[in-house]
Amino acid sequence: MGEKKDPEVIIVGGGAAGLFAGCFLKRAGVAFRVLERGDRPGRKLLLTGHGRCNITNRKDPRILKEGYHEAGSYIYSALKSFSPEDAIRFIENELGVELKEEDNGRMFPVSDSAESIRSALVDYIGKENIITGFCCTDIIRETGGYTAVSDDGRSVTGSRIILACGGRSFPETGSDGLSYEVAGKLGHTITPLIPALSAVDVCAADREFTSAVSGVSVNAGASLYCESRKRASGLGSVLFTHRGLSGPVIGELSREIPRDIAASDGWIELDFTPHRTEQELDRELLEQMNSHPDAKITTLASKYVPSSVADKIGQRAGVTDLRAGMVTRDGRKELLKGLKHLELHIDNPPAYETAYVTRGGVALKEIKRETMESKILPGMYIIGEMIDIDGVSGGYNLQACMSEAFIAVRDIMG
Ligand SMILES: Cc1cc2nc3c(=O)[nH]c(=O)nc-3n(C[C@H](O)[C@H](O)[C@H](O)COP(=O)(O)OP(=O)(O)OC[C@H]3O[C@@H](n4cnc5c(N)ncnc54)[C@H](O)[C@@H]3O)c2cc1C
Repeated sequence: MGEKKDPEVIIVGGGAAGLFAGCFLKRAGVAFRVLERGDRPGRKLLLTGHGRCNITNRKDPRILKEGYHEAGSYIYSALKSFSPEDAIRFIENELGVELKEEDNGRMFPVSDSAESIRSALVDYIGKENIITGFCCTDIIRETGGYTAVSDDGRSVTGSRIILACGGRSFPETGSDGLSYEVAGKLGHTITPLIPALSAVDVCAADREFTSAVSGVSVNAGASLYCESRKRASGLGSVLFTHRGLSGPVIGELSREIPRDIAASDGWIELDFTPHRTEQELDRELLEQMNSHPDAKITTLASKYVPSSVADKIGQRAGVTDLRAGMVTRDGRKELLKGLKHLELHIDNPPAYETAYVTRGGVALKEIKRETMESKILPGMYIIGEMIDIDGVSGGYNLQACMSEAFIAVRDIMG
């Protein structure tokens, strides 16, 4: 397919998914244009991995798929077709960015700079193939193709179109949910949207606890409850913040928080001793209290949590200044409750402004899993965060973008 005035393929959205799709088309020698609403492509990429870009995760697709929640079996064929190993080879050999492996299979550029990935993608694609300042508000199906129309009336036509406009998280990067309007107008169903991998704010009363220990990180079990029903739980690092909680395990729970949480009673329960049963902890505490009756009870509790957290738990339990020998059975039970069942109530759902990804999006039942082609509109492909797939943290979301871009382009190439 040679160069012509109109591109063969239009890519709407110059984020990770759109840029990788552009790379695969470039490698195949297909004429294409990336239409990006912002003044430069890949703005969200720059924020990834705290500016270092955790580009993928070196796990076998069979294991990796477990990190995509309900969509694990859907995305498996894409992950097999373009695996993390394929991604690493492409990024190192084609884009010329050397990668390194960190804990738990997470891959980063050796430069520790997300910009090195972003600029390599843009250089590979060629600036001439990227049209910035093009905010696509409509897509018109023509005989033999699609025309993307911008909010200022410009249009670009191509025989195929790839939608890669992102979700709703971090809207200042350009993905503010307009993608769903565009896909909705084309007849696609949008499943309920929920901020995911987000920090969680707790209610004002409990913020008094979290802000006092803000910056402290602990390993804990964390469970989300709504109306006394456990909705989700996990184990990992939890960071106390001025507004509540964050960290990987909290991010995982955030996708399960209902949007109408304000109307119900919801909380996160922290268990600071997840590897001890309540009985074991109680027995241990009692033994220590008996052996050290003159020790401050919160000093004994700091065996299990950082001392600042032990102080706050002691305060809640009403035993903070007491020596161990003075603590009653009820006081000990309250302390135990704080160590195993610390409840921090949520009165507002997480915000898209702090969510790394969006749960929900274009319904998967309307997209062919082998090709990412729309089942409603042939020749239109939908990839990246705008579809109903969200992964855990650790490079999963960018790998999804790459794998989906790959199988879409493979199908376009026939
Ligand atoms: C702070 C942060 C850190 C993250 N870290 C990681 C990480 O380390 N590893 C990982 O795997 N994932 C990470 N993620 C998630 C990952 O960045 C996203 O899942 C991924 O960028 C989604 O790519 P995308 O191309 O689908 O969407 P986006 O990157 O959001 O790109 C969509 C693009 O489309 C453009 N656009 C939107 N609508 C239109 C329109 N109508 N017309 C034209 N253009 C449009 C937008 O301007 C944007 O440039 C992180 C996310 C955040 C917010």
